Amino acid sequence: MTSQSPDMKISLETPVRAPSAVPVDDAVLPFEVASLDLRGRLTRLGPALDDVLTKHDYPAPVGKLLGEAIVLTTLLGSSLKFDGRFILQTQTDGPVSFLIVDFQAPDRLRAYARYDAKRLKEGQDSGALLGKGHLAMTIDQGPDMSRYQGLVALDGGSLEDAAHEYFLRSEQIPTRVRLAVGEEWRGGGAGPKHRWRAGGVLLQFLPKAPERARQADLHPGDAPEGVAAHTVAEDDAWIEGQSLISTVEDIELIDPDLSGERLLYRLFHERGVRVFAPLPLRAQCSCSRDAVSAMLKSFAPDDRAAMVKDDKVVVTCEFCSSVYQFTPHEAGVE
Ligand SMILES: [Zn+2]
Repeated sequence: MTSQSPDMKISLETPVRAPSAVPVDDAVLPFEVASLDLRGRLTRLGPALDDVLTKHDYPAPVGKLLGEAIVLTTLLGSSLKFDGRFILQTQTDGPVSFLIVDFQAPDRLRAYARYDAKRLKEGQDSGALLGKGHLAMTIDQGPDMSRYQGLVALDGGSLEDAAHEYFLRSEQIPTRVRLAVGEEWRGGGAGPKHRWRAGGVLLQFLPKAPERARQADLHPGDAPEGVAAHTVAEDDAWIEGQSLISTVEDIELIDPDLSGERLLYRLFHERGVRVFAPLPLRAQCSCSRDAVSAMLKSFAPDDRAAMVKDDKVVVTCEFCSSVYQFTPHEAGVE
């Protein structure tokens, strides 16, 4: 490109700056590696995750698994462009039989798990904790809009595996996800000695030409015996993207002293990486005394009466462990 006069040079370059060294917790950082047609999001969770998990006092393996589900939810739900809701749920036959993470755009998170303490054993990975069943992702855009639900089978694999399966089958977008949850122990000084931390990254290949997004691991289908399976060559840019993200260590995802920008720079600096404004996250339940009262009033009179114990009705929110207490009269019991 030739400029018309020496003093009229127009730069088409995006401004370049050094990656910030300041770690930002409880936020999702969107990014782009334009030269490889990659887009992604990086989540770092500190106090918000600790808040959700310590309210329940879960055994460590259950807390870690719920933490992974929370990170996955932030990576998926933060792309919502509306004031909607993204709900991730698992229902399985393992020791952790139920997980739910409720993300309300733009930034509110709440979650809980149901588990059988007697079935927890040393060394169970997330696949063993979950067992078999399914993972459901629901996008709710409000009462006037239709709900979208995506389902994927859980068959002894991890939440990462389930996310890959979902994007391969339902969205057909080449996607890799990494999730990590850790416990931080601090000796001496004031403040809590134990804290939960988590991090995750989602990477997607979104080329302009759709044929470049073909994926190698699609099932070959019902080819007759003796016919070689049709192998699809993956695009070089996506091969490179997957190999870069596979180098991310769990410790890098949760390290409180490594900023998200530095981590992305470490991964993608040779190809050029661009970050966008971070999206903050917070742990906040949406329960209230009024909402619990309305729920009680929606029950059948006999069911309400059965809830009276010691002349009161006590309801505990499963998400945040808040306790709401009513007199029988307030609870609508005659
Ligand atoms: Zn609550």
